[in-house]
Amino acid sequence: MLTCPAPVTRVHTLREALVQRASHPHATVLAGGTDLMVYIELGSVQPTAILDLWGCTELRGISGDGRTLGALTTWSDVVGHPALPAALRDCARTVGAPQIQNRGTLGGNIVNASPAGDSLPLWLAMDAKFELASVRGVREVPASEFWLGYRKTALAADELLTRIHLHPHAGDRLHYRKVGTRLAQAISKVVLGGRLRVVDGVVTEARVALGSVAPTPIRAHHVEAALLGKPIDPAAAAAVAADIAPIDDIRSTAAYRRRVAANVIRAWLETEARTPS
Ligand SMILES: Cc1cc2nc3c(=O)[nH]c(=O)nc-3n(C[C@H](O)[C@H](O)[C@H](O)COP(=O)(O)OP(=O)(O)OC[C@H]3O[C@@H](n4cnc5c(N)ncnc54)[C@H](O)[C@@H]3O)c2cc1C
Repeated sequence: MLTCPAPVTRVHTLREALVQRASHPHATVLAGGTDLMVYIELGSVQPTAILDLWGCTELRGISGDGRTLGALTTWSDVVGHPALPAALRDCARTVGAPQIQNRGTLGGNIVNASPAGDSLPLWLAMDAKFELASVRGVREVPASEFWLGYRKTALAADELLTRIHLHPHAGDRLHYRKVGTRLAQAISKVVLGGRLRVVDGVVTEARVALGSVAPTPIRAHHVEAALLGKPIDPAAAAAVAADIAPIDDIRSTAAYRRRVAANVIRAWLETEARTPS
């Protein structure tokens, strides 16, 4: 049985949460707890106090147009939301299994900052902006500036991630692909989030983002550059070799990750190249 002697403060409004965060910046923030409870059980996190956000319902939910998502929105909320891009709903379906999807939150996945976090490449591909709030005010940080190093984020000690903002462009093609050992309950070996804008048969914007191949989720800038200004060219996938720095670990080898990263990008581009613009 899990034992954790730390006192728990449960908050029900964002204001309360921010005041508590400011006065107890060393408290461990708990959202769904699906990452945190594992770390507490392993002893790698030993909270002295816990700030429980779960009752903060104003941070849960998705705007009708799908452009604003509360940090406490769960993966199950995302799976069934018709205004969200299909790629994001595909991602939600691959997080753990329904039990984890019912409790795990978008904010937890983002702030946990695991290089293997399934949603992270998609936020990069969508140019998402993260709203960070404290009693000092609110600021927006682009996903591309949020993950600073291995499990290191731009969040200040008194801040909470409150919302995620999307700015979808009609006609953009968004793609998600996870490679893991199984379809459910598997930590990814490689994750791809991609977005293409094609105008008159020519790629005018490209985002190719990968997880599990570097200490943080990354943009594959060499692949993006190889795609721009011409018709979709699946051969651009080879440029990923210059973008990634995978490691050998218990889930996979660096060599496998290099090969699979190129393969999943190429497969996506081949499909897109066959799709009329
Ligand atoms: C069996 C199992 C399977 C899993 N499968 C997957 C998977 O397939 N893919 C995947 O990506 N993940 C997976 N996970 C990890 C986890 O479920 C997800 O990362 C989930 O989205 C975390 O959300 P949470 O609300 O539970 O986070 P929590 O555990 O509550 O928090 C995670 C971290 O984020 C911080 N935090 C949370 N919310 C905020 C906030 N709003 N502001 C500031 N800090 C915050 C916490 O302090 C903590 O450091 C799995 C976990 C388990 C146990």
